[in-house]
Amino acid sequence: MSYSLYFHIPFCTHRCAYCDFNTYAGQEDSIPAYVDALCKEIEFVGQSSHAERSGSTVEAHTLFFGGGTPSLLSPKRFEKILRTIRDHFDLIEDVEITVEANPGTVSFDDLKTLHSLGINRISFGVQSANPEELRMLERIHDFFDVIDAVEWARKAGFDNLNLDLIYGLPEQTLTSWRATVQRILDLHPEHISAYALTLEHGTPFGRWSARGLLPIPDPDLAADMYEWASEAFDAAGYGQYEISNWARVKDESRKLKDKSAAGSSSFIFYPSSFECRHNLQYWRGLPYLGFGAGAHGYANNYRYSNTLRIKTYIERMNEYRKSNIEFPLSPATVNQHHQSVGDDMSEYMMTGLRLTREGIAAPAFRRRFGRELSEVYSREINDLIQLGLLEWHEEACEGYESSQALRLTRRGRLLGNQVFIRFVE
Ligand code: SF4
Repeated sequence: MSYSLYFHIPFCTHRCAYCDFNTYAGQEDSIPAYVDALCKEIEFVGQSSHAERSGSTVEAHTLFFGGGTPSLLSPKRFEKILRTIRDHFDLIEDVEITVEANPGTVSFDDLKTLHSLGINRISFGVQSANPEELRMLERIHDFFDVIDAVEWARKAGFDNLNLDLIYGLPEQTLTSWRATVQRILDLHPEHISAYALTLEHGTPFGRWSARGLLPIPDPDLAADMYEWASEAFDAAGYGQYEISNWARVKDESRKLKDKSAAGSSSFIFYPSSFECRHNLQYWRGLPYLGFGAGAHGYANNYRYSNTLRIKTYIERMNEYRKSNIEFPLSPATVNQHHQSVGDDMSEYMMTGLRLTREGIAAPAFRRRFGRELSEVYSREINDLIQLGLLEWHEEACEGYESSQALRLTRRGRLLGNQVFIRFVE
């Protein structure tokens, strides 16, 4: 089984008004100590995985640096982290390595160095092309920074770029959203993510909304924005593969390259488009290890998460003395949950149904749980089919030439939460 590895970089130069991620502004002085602690955690988990697996090294097929703003780290620090990862994990030849970047924090020289280090995918947080909307979100970049960042990334050699968008913003109109979508398509990224704004408790947006001060679009308008964008992405050659994610098809030479990489020691299903292989690992319920403050992981029947605060994370990684902590946990772990089969099934349904094209294949469910999908969830599935939110379809997926798979209908994509809640344990 090939793993995915996630590295959390919890630093931002400014906190955006809608953000509830585990990230901190004004703590950049801690970056050197944080990177040292991160490398210690990578080393610790790499060594404990050896012990657990009788000396064999964990194979990884994706690495993802998320945040926060990973692009605040210098290329030298990335080099150090990547060297530590390669020393303790077995990376497949065609490993996908993504770095999230704020378009206001990158330079051509840094992107060039990152590419030379083996990083092969950049995910830019664009959010909007409209200056007023970017100001309201308190983003530090403008759309000219996005144009520069994409141009520099191309020149630096990146042929796999994601651009992140948010719709349903305060005072956003269908016209301004359409303009954003069009400007994004003009940049020809390989991958686009478009998420609806969520108002999180404890953020300025959450507080202003509770006091009636935030004129967000009503749900019908937000649904229109989603549907309009889906059609525009589709018309521009992007295939939707997840509720909020679209990817371009790869050319033939690229597909062949991926096929040869699949000759690694374990079975990996390679997409024939620029789908994000790292995120597919989450949605398919496959194992991943999380490193860094607030990072989450799922492996060896554990779901776990690390301490949130940067200072505590550094202290924990510097001060541990005994090492009776078992793989995949580390001295930074503060929450761990041993998964029951019921937990696993429920999560498998909720994440797998996000995959709008492949859905959940009945044979894959049987292989994983030894039971029939249509029997375990017969009542829920029948109810949701009656409501027009789920459908069975025939699809070649994950090693099966053709199989019955359960997936969301077009209507179900708009009402995903009503579907997922039916599978909560
Ligand atoms: S840049 Fe991203 S992670 Fe940082 S505060 Fe803004 S939304 Fe949050």
